[in-house]
Amino acid sequence: MALVRTECPTCGTIEIQCATVTVLRRADGDPMDYEFHCPRCADEVRRPLSPRHVLVLLENGAALRQLGEVGDPITSAEIVLFARMLEEPGLLERELARLLA
Ligand SMILES: [Zn+2]
Repeated sequence: MALVRTECPTCGTIEIQCATVTVLRRADGDPMDYEFHCPRCADEVRRPLSPRHVLVLLENGAALRQLGEVGDPITSAEIVLFARMLEEPGLLERELARLLA
């Protein structure tokens, strides 16, 4: 099991298993945190997470929890439009080309 070295405010430097960490994701582009229960004092600790460590934690078994809303919910008008695009030959391709232009 991969270990990660981190800090507990009470215990100082500690090592915890990546699989016991939860990565906390907010809206796109916002800084992330991670949280864990300290194996020594059992306190719940939350610390800032640098972007380069996100993948390392996730690849080694850390959980991911989404905080808050992600964008606006899909409206029924958008669903109707999408269904129409699927039925109309070439419309979806044209819309995709327009988005990528
Ligand atoms: Zn501790």
